[in-house]
Amino acid sequence: MGGIGLAACRQTHEIPAVEEEPQLPKVVVAYVTSWTSEMPDPSLMTHINYSFGHVNNSFNGVRIDNEKRLAAIVEHRNRMQENLPDSARTKIMLSIGGWGSGRFSEMVSDSLLRNSFCMDCRRIVEEFGLDGIDIDWEYPGSNLANISYAPTDSDNFSLLMRDLRSCLGDGYCLTMASAASAKHVNFPDFIGYMDFVNIMAYDMANAPYHHSALYDSEISGSFTSSKAVQAHLEAGVPKHKLVLGVPFYGRGGRKNGQNYVNFNVRDIDPAKYELCWSGEAMVPYIRNKKGEMVFGLENQRSLGIKCDYVLEQGLRGIMYWDYACNDADLSQSRLLAKKILDYPASVTSGADYAGNRVRFKALVYYTEHAEEAHVQFAHQSIEFFKKLAVGNGFSVETCTDLCKYGSRALDRFDLIISVNAAPQSGKERTAFRNYMENGGGWIGFHAAAYNDAGTNWPWFLDFIGGGRFLCNNWPPQPALVQLDTLGHPVTRNLPAEFVIPASEYYQWTPSPRQNPDVDVLLSISPKNYPMGLKDIVYDGDWPLVWTNRKYRMIYLNMGHGDEEFTDATQNLLFVNALQWITKLND
Ligand code: ZN
Repeated sequence: MGGIGLAACRQTHEIPAVEEEPQLPKVVVAYVTSWTSEMPDPSLMTHINYSFGHVNNSFNGVRIDNEKRLAAIVEHRNRMQENLPDSARTKIMLSIGGWGSGRFSEMVSDSLLRNSFCMDCRRIVEEFGLDGIDIDWEYPGSNLANISYAPTDSDNFSLLMRDLRSCLGDGYCLTMASAASAKHVNFPDFIGYMDFVNIMAYDMANAPYHHSALYDSEISGSFTSSKAVQAHLEAGVPKHKLVLGVPFYGRGGRKNGQNYVNFNVRDIDPAKYELCWSGEAMVPYIRNKKGEMVFGLENQRSLGIKCDYVLEQGLRGIMYWDYACNDADLSQSRLLAKKILDYPASVTSGADYAGNRVRFKALVYYTEHAEEAHVQFAHQSIEFFKKLAVGNGFSVETCTDLCKYGSRALDRFDLIISVNAAPQSGKERTAFRNYMENGGGWIGFHAAAYNDAGTNWPWFLDFIGGGRFLCNNWPPQPALVQLDTLGHPVTRNLPAEFVIPASEYYQWTPSPRQNPDVDVLLSISPKNYPMGLKDIVYDGDWPLVWTNRKYRMIYLNMGHGDEEFTDATQNLLFVNALQWITKLND
């Protein structure tokens, strides 16, 4: 131990004055454990929390699990980022604590032990070339994890943060892991010393409740991620210092002890279990044949929604436990990096567009085996979207069979544009459903939503908003349309009423408008009735454009014929839809 005098540690560090919420760079914090072997890709996160170090047996310093691995991670980071300035490199922190890691209570209660511990933290960051210290005491004042505790822990925790900041100086990072409840510590006493606080918004329940639901629902435990954020704001943590933790693993019940870390939904026995989605809790879960929720997990969709929540709430960023739970493509880490840090979806997509970063990748899905007008529309759509791609920095691929892509390979597309058909074969349907349930984007035109009693695909009926084909006008004709939802990003720059080029329009039963998850954006004006010369529609609700909020999707009932891309207003609608689905116009 050494290098810095004890006196230096005793100086109290001044708490900065209370400031406005500053716009600080977002963070993605990844826990990397001592007992796994993957080398983290530092381009996918801003901070690595190496877990764990512990308060040593003599209460006056730090013991690190698997020091060799910590040194190897630092070495790896240095090599991978040797051309970056120090400020742009991924920061590596030592997390001290973890579930069941004790001796904090004794250490913090004695000023000499506490100072000695803080000096040892300083020694370690210098010796290992680290960027800071993260304290994961679970939890001050609690023996839930069978560790020592005292009623004075909370006050002493504040002193520890003060002394750590004093010892580390401003050049190093200081963070902590906080219980979802925001209890156990008194944030206003020490938040001024902290860079940020990571909320452990997981393990908050066991089956039959989800351990990391975002919002309240039937399957949510008494605590949710959004409640955890609220609790921290109320406890005095400002938004710019608040980082939401998400799990990369699932959790079952205490009863059967099923806590699969690298759980693969493809292993579910469909005879016994069903994978479900809670549109209220915004997380996937597994239920048994009795309808009981037995396992709560995350997928790309739920992780994406939590990222959106972090961005919408103006929080500092996201943290996850842990890096080793990624799939082989690192999809989870890539998603978080892309969402929070605006990284490209995959390394390979980065060079696709004229050497520049591709802002998004679209897959146009179509069939040649359809009525002539629908095939014409497909060809014209491909031309239309390829032209748009030149100006917008996205790439377009086309395909007539989704099975050509494994279900995971579809994930590299930001959206699928179905121009004249829904997926047909069972395999295509499974690939499409997996894609959408994992956060995929979709724009569908005209025949892409067509379904009737013979379609026999209940998931798709629910996806499309619940409406089956009822009837249509014939022959194709122009129509006066009206906006239904004012101020929606897709229609905000369109006139309240306008005429669209000749097309065939489907009417649906029940009307998608009756679905509470559906926002109807545009519909046929009743002023058109009666509509049609041969097949005549006399009345009824006739939505043309809508979105089902349970998915990242929009349906546009245009695309029967060969004149669909001749109208500027309608083209603007298509471009708006594209921007909205790919979140370019948020
Ligand atoms: Zn048609």
